[in-house]
Amino acid sequence: MRVRFAPSPTGHLHVGNARTALFNWLLARGSGGTFILRIEDTDVERSRTESEQAILEDLEWMGLHWDEGPDVGGRFGPYRQSERLYLYRSYAERLIREGRAYYCFCSPQQLEAERKEQVRLGRAPRYSGRCRAIAPAGARARVDAGEAAVVRFKVPDQERVGFTDIVRGEISVSIDVIGDPVLLRSDGHPAYNFAVVIDDALMEITHVIRGEDHISNTHRQVLLYEALGVTPPKFAHLSLVLGPDHTPLSKRHGATSVAEFRAKGYLPEALVNYLALLGWSPGEGEEVLPAAELARRFSLEAVAHSAGIFDEEKLAWVNRHYLRSAAPERIAALSIPYLRAAGFATAPDARGLEFLASRAIPMVTNSVDRLDQAPRRLHFLFEFKPSVSIQDSDVAAILIHPGATHAIDTLASELEMMPRLLTRDTFRAAAARVRERTGLKGKDLFHPIRVALTGDAGGPELDLAIPAIDAGAALPADAGIAPIMGCRERAVAFAAALRVDGR
Ligand code: GLU
Repeated sequence: MRVRFAPSPTGHLHVGNARTALFNWLLARGSGGTFILRIEDTDVERSRTESEQAILEDLEWMGLHWDEGPDVGGRFGPYRQSERLYLYRSYAERLIREGRAYYCFCSPQQLEAERKEQVRLGRAPRYSGRCRAIAPAGARARVDAGEAAVVRFKVPDQERVGFTDIVRGEISVSIDVIGDPVLLRSDGHPAYNFAVVIDDALMEITHVIRGEDHISNTHRQVLLYEALGVTPPKFAHLSLVLGPDHTPLSKRHGATSVAEFRAKGYLPEALVNYLALLGWSPGEGEEVLPAAELARRFSLEAVAHSAGIFDEEKLAWVNRHYLRSAAPERIAALSIPYLRAAGFATAPDARGLEFLASRAIPMVTNSVDRLDQAPRRLHFLFEFKPSVSIQDSDVAAILIHPGATHAIDTLASELEMMPRLLTRDTFRAAAARVRERTGLKGKDLFHPIRVALTGDAGGPELDLAIPAIDAGAALPADAGIAPIMGCRERAVAFAAALRVDGR
């Protein structure tokens, strides 16, 4: 089995295309087949090297490694269409020689006039076939004399053209809807339908898996395979990925490219796992499975032909699962760009990373959907300003309780007597002392303590937050983590702010 993903490098990798790549990859990996990457860059105007580079990076990031491709090579190269122009030319010439293709000299103005006339007559516009009448020798002479010409395929005289789609079953159309398609443009570049057939044939592709927007192309391609005397590959056309309003997923719905989801802090394994569920189910009520297991279970026959609705909530749910099960060291490293953007880290060294992995990340992974939410979850470590906190309405609602100020004063005096570096147990001991001395308990005790030590009315469990604050405060200044004020100083500062405020 040989399958390929054939992106056009004209923009970002859309998640719909990423799913196409994934289904090809799953099929290849599940069956010991070969996954090929081919760059379809014959649209000179729109193709960009940076876009090709970005697509390769996104695929790498998703872990969809290819066995043959522009960078790794392979027996069937080159894998960039712009490097295969000589092949398209020679096959076009062969088809001309065999009388299955011909030169067309119609100008764009002529074609446009013809199109308008057909529309006026209420017919579907298609090329009239006018240049079929030019004798081959005469056409050749005009081309040799430098006249601009395209090469068109002579659509054969038959009633219908069709194929069996693995996902959709029999599909066919009347040949009448197909005007003689262009194979080579006048600048020598191939039309998509021609290049793709030559490449799929020469690269010995056995299964073509792509979006259903290509079905009308497939009819033309099937005719070309027949003309070339090549058995077509098997085809599977995937439903498009739609937004929640059932229109094709686009910018209007928010993020659409792999790069955007990556920047939002989704893990690659989560995106891969989620995309696999769009139009396919691994069965047995299981949804969260590693890529290798998805590949083991994948079959094209089980792909649904109903559209896949992209649901970011569900993606977030899958991501939470992977965030929780990933190694904290890895999540710590991945969270650095977000922390850096928030001013909470520079370039953490081993001590900084250790702090993040063992202290900070556990508070993140148990509650966020994505890593771009990490700074919001961790801001209390770095931004402690009692005078600002007491203006916050949720904090004020806690401070207004009888005994809240007393609890904070008492906490401050208790922490003066505790070791500086609070652990979960020493923190609990301090809280127990405050309870004994004030008679406060439950929320009345812990809400003021939380407010005094974190500056917030809510946030991570104190059992995690308090040791994290003091571990962070003990970090050397050059560990790459922004300065963190310790709990003892926090309690004192908060009590002082309350006094200034007259509470
Ligand atoms: N370059 C085409 C695209 O990006 C590939 C279609 C195909 O897989 O044949 O849509």
